[in-house]
Amino acid sequence: MNENKIKPVWESCSDKIALKRDEDGWLSKNNGKYFVAFAILEAQGFVFFGHEPLVEVAYIEKAEVNGKSRPIFAASKRRGVDRRIIHELREKFSPGYLKTCHIGVVEREGEEPLCGECPACLIFGTLQYPSRIRYADSVAIEEDAVQELNKNIIDELKLTSGAILTQEAIKPGTHFPIYTFGRWMTEDEFGGWAYAFLSAIRQGRYTSRGAAHGKLDIATINGEPAVFLLESDKPLYPSIFRISIVETDYKTISQRFANFEIKTGPEAMQKTLSELLFFKGTRCIEKLEEISDKFCRLVETWSKGKSQ
Ligand SMILES: [Zn+2]
Repeated sequence: MNENKIKPVWESCSDKIALKRDEDGWLSKNNGKYFVAFAILEAQGFVFFGHEPLVEVAYIEKAEVNGKSRPIFAASKRRGVDRRIIHELREKFSPGYLKTCHIGVVEREGEEPLCGECPACLIFGTLQYPSRIRYADSVAIEEDAVQELNKNIIDELKLTSGAILTQEAIKPGTHFPIYTFGRWMTEDEFGGWAYAFLSAIRQGRYTSRGAAHGKLDIATINGEPAVFLLESDKPLYPSIFRISIVETDYKTISQRFANFEIKTGPEAMQKTLSELLFFKGTRCIEKLEEISDKFCRLVETWSKGKSQ
């Protein structure tokens, strides 16, 4: 993948797709809110994205920027992990429902494996209905962030499969800025993303096991988790805190993040946004937990309604 193919969120979220099923109770553009969630993730130990490699050589997906290659945390991978986590949550309340609505091989063959009426479809969409949660590809901030694990290192890391001879891995301490964008959603619905994100971080789900068995965690800046959430009833633009792909100095970026604040008082509202909420650091994690709980109740309610 080269620089031109990377899809920053400020491009991927700019298209306007008309929602179709308003009459069935799905949100329309007019009655939902807009969300931008941002976090800086940090590799704790060697990490590798995707499934555990079954071949002899496993490479990291990279972007070529200014002649140097840097690892990518692809939007599609993060999205896949998140949706799986939501399906598992739904399964907890509606055992067996995975047979009715699932992701996997069938989806790629063009058949519709998704039900179009469960909470996962409600927020992530179906083949016909656009997702209201958008993900951006993330390029690692650091250059020289990939290391080839040779057989000796792999042995040291207690490799489970003897078949791998070479595996690339992302070095400990590498940082990934991640953007997630929600549109035309209620807080409870965007809580689905919050639930998946917090679960994935706490369970180490964004990276695979195997030779590179570290995990991604939320970076800490000045003793606070590097995460913020913006909510508005007007469209939001993630470039409000933009990390350019050419920036490679984590110290500078983390300082900029530490100083980043948004005024949410009446003054700010008078300008362009009629309602704006901003949560950062520990307060943001608390807010994500709050809306995550709301989404869990939404799934529970949906499951009860379905079984009656
Ligand atoms: Zn579904």
